[in-house]
Amino acid sequence: MNVLKFGGTSVANANNITQVCQIVADKSKEDKLAVVISAFSGVTDLLLSASLKAAAKDESYRELLSEIEKKHFDAIKELLPIQQQSALLSHVKRIVNHLETLLDGCFLLGERSARTSDTIIGFGELLSSCIVAETLKQSVAKSTYKDSRELIRTDDNFGKANVDFAKTNVLIKEYFASTDAHVIVLPGFIGSSENGDNTTLGRGGSDYTAAILASGLNADKLEIWTDVNGMFTANPKIVRQAQPIASISYQEAMELSHFGAKVLYPPTIQPALDKNIPIFIKNTFEPNVYGTLISANPEKSQNPIKGISHIEGISLVTLEGSGMIGVAGSSKRLFEVLSDKGINVIFITQASSEHSICIGILDSDSEKAQKAIDNAFETEISRHRIEPCIVEKGLCIVALVGENMKNHQGLSGKMFSTLGKNNVNIRAIAQGASERNISVVINERDVKKALNTLHERFFEDNTKQINLFVMGVGNVGEKFLDQIHQQKKFLRDNLKINLRVIALSNSKKMIFDEEGLSLKDWKQQLESGENADIGRFVQNVKTLNLRNSIFVDITTNQHVSDSYHQYLEDSIAVVTCNKIACSSVYENYVDLKNTSRKYGAPFLFETNVGAGLPIIDTLKNMVASGDKVNKIQAVLSGSLNFIFNNFDGNSSFHDVVKEAGIQGFTEPDPKIDLSGVDVARKILILIRESGYEMEMHDIENKSFLPKECLDTQSVPDFFVSLLTHAKHFDDLYDQAKSQDCRLKYVAQFENGKAAVGLQFIPKDHPFYNLEGKDNIVLFFTDRYSDQPLLIRGAGAGAAVTASGIFADVIRASNN
Ligand code: ADP
Ligand code: ASP
Ligand code: MG
Repeated sequence: MNVLKFGGTSVANANNITQVCQIVADKSKEDKLAVVISAFSGVTDLLLSASLKAAAKDESYRELLSEIEKKHFDAIKELLPIQQQSALLSHVKRIVNHLETLLDGCFLLGERSARTSDTIIGFGELLSSCIVAETLKQSVAKSTYKDSRELIRTDDNFGKANVDFAKTNVLIKEYFASTDAHVIVLPGFIGSSENGDNTTLGRGGSDYTAAILASGLNADKLEIWTDVNGMFTANPKIVRQAQPIASISYQEAMELSHFGAKVLYPPTIQPALDKNIPIFIKNTFEPNVYGTLISANPEKSQNPIKGISHIEGISLVTLEGSGMIGVAGSSKRLFEVLSDKGINVIFITQASSEHSICIGILDSDSEKAQKAIDNAFETEISRHRIEPCIVEKGLCIVALVGENMKNHQGLSGKMFSTLGKNNVNIRAIAQGASERNISVVINERDVKKALNTLHERFFEDNTKQINLFVMGVGNVGEKFLDQIHQQKKFLRDNLKINLRVIALSNSKKMIFDEEGLSLKDWKQQLESGENADIGRFVQNVKTLNLRNSIFVDITTNQHVSDSYHQYLEDSIAVVTCNKIACSSVYENYVDLKNTSRKYGAPFLFETNVGAGLPIIDTLKNMVASGDKVNKIQAVLSGSLNFIFNNFDGNSSFHDVVKEAGIQGFTEPDPKIDLSGVDVARKILILIRESGYEMEMHDIENKSFLPKECLDTQSVPDFFVSLLTHAKHFDDLYDQAKSQDCRLKYVAQFENGKAAVGLQFIPKDHPFYNLEGKDNIVLFFTDRYSDQPLLIRGAGAGAAVTASGIFADVIRASNN
């Protein structure tokens, strides 16, 4: 004998019912079957809502009633040949009429007792099961229908009645012995009390009906047929990567379902466990998929964690005060009060100081609980021995479940650090001594992020999803996106990083896609985006609240750099090639670094100096390992180097600067390069990274530009001034040439002083042969005192800068 239960989606319409009948017909060839049927998907909710409306004197309950009637009529008309419809149609009509009478009664009286409610919400199963039973008769001759209310005896705890197993088992055995039908179809969810009142077993209770039958009949197995491929490692609607669990113990399944895995109604497991009946969870729409087997001896698995579940809508109630310490019975009183009020306690923690006790209950119970507790402890509260209880709503419990967790160290550490890194604040923690479950309470707004990041950590072969929010898609930005597009597969296969671009913005438009933008046609997408706004961009990033988020600044904009704090404070990493923040006032630079440390969010700016060259990272490692930087000499402007290398007497200075701009080697405003400001910013950043405190105005800047060029107010004016002063630049070139020197723009730091300026570099100097747009840095340190540490290579250009940003993104991802 096997018991099969089909859930709401499995019988939602005629098509699905046909599929159910097919499965039952196939199975009936081998075994005798009890088949439990849920209400059509959504019908129990409609019934509940209709009854509430009727009791509230809202006539629209009649529309809901018509909707319910139509759903069932439509199904019958599709399922049965016309000649066979009428008997079933009139049977269903009679049931609907009865329902209507009850709803009219609620409407006239303006009330709806728990007892009436149970009768009303049980109608869904009465309707669905008779339709399935009649349809099944088409293919299975020896099939019949039995009303579960005649078999399942309960008390009158309406809404969630308790089963009287002694009586129920006798009724079940008697009936099944008496029938010679091979397949018996029964409604789930409903029972009746000793007085003959209709009762229900709690929402989702059809699973339980099936387990009660399986237990009463000592069935060989219990199959729960639903709309997913088994019990998953996490709710598949929230965690895309969740996988069905092939094999799991009764206890683990019980923990997962108690903590929110809705696929199985929690009380279902106990009757099966008592009789050692295996439970299979199967998908009606993919019947050949194995599904999940819940049994006493599940297959051993490598992973100590079986699944992650969660319950939303939780309130934490905290009772604290010196009056709790060492006073026996405080918690007993607390739990008694809650139990008297019928409030279910889902979560408990108490610090060993006994100063406070904290419990998790449903949000819907929180006001009732607060009143009752404050009442019960009124005396202590008035004497200030205990504080009035504190209630925090809108929380969520997330639980890791696995039988084998007790044999592994460090799982809770991993859980907490994974959440911490993603700025998920843990409000309370509980771990049972059985160690089958570690639960944390977090804010409901973080639930999606928390589940996904934990799932990634514990189930996904360490593949990490990284979510990028990119601002600035000029030359460098475009190359950066190209590189991501090209490297996506490599990163996934080799570094286990799943890099996604969630948002893009230029100065005009911005676009967001929570599922990740397609990088094939981002330009068209961006054109039709919403108007750009830095503040709204920040807000969107925060609201999306995705795990492992990184903000990437590829602009040269002051306002963008002003927004870094807001990201870091939310544990969102910042990667930037924009030099403004790190070369702003020292206090701001230090503050950003501290914020980054405090919130565990990397703040990386390798491309601030030398584009993609590993200068800052090398410097950081030297300093961290105890080396001391004494002197820095550098050519740090790829742009100026390109300009002076090409300014060789053949073309005008103006034309060379123009060309450098076209090739992407200068800032959009070339005066930032030519005035020396850009180089000053870079040496300042190196000095600060070396551990010295310095401000921009401390750097001596001997500009080679005539004052008039420096004073121009726009880019076009600046270019005009370069033409006007052509002779000044030609003279500089001639002078250098006459001394057998080359012009190089040099930055220097020594004895606490820094300067930037154009220098005549003689032939024997390491800077003399610096090619094209190359940069060179010499670090003279305690360890590199005779021969400096030298880093040299292309220091400007979109592709190398983009690759530097890319490297920072990978560094941030590995955090
Ligand atoms: P039925 O109507 O068949 O009883 P339910 O809606 O009660 O189906 O339960 C199945 C649903 O449970 C799935 O569609 C899924 O959204 C949800 N669910 C939540 N957590 C899990 C989980 N861990 N594994 C599988 N399904 C889950
Ligand atoms: N129809 C009931 C409900 O929606 C019982 C069930 O589907 O398991 O809660
Ligand atoms: Mg269910």
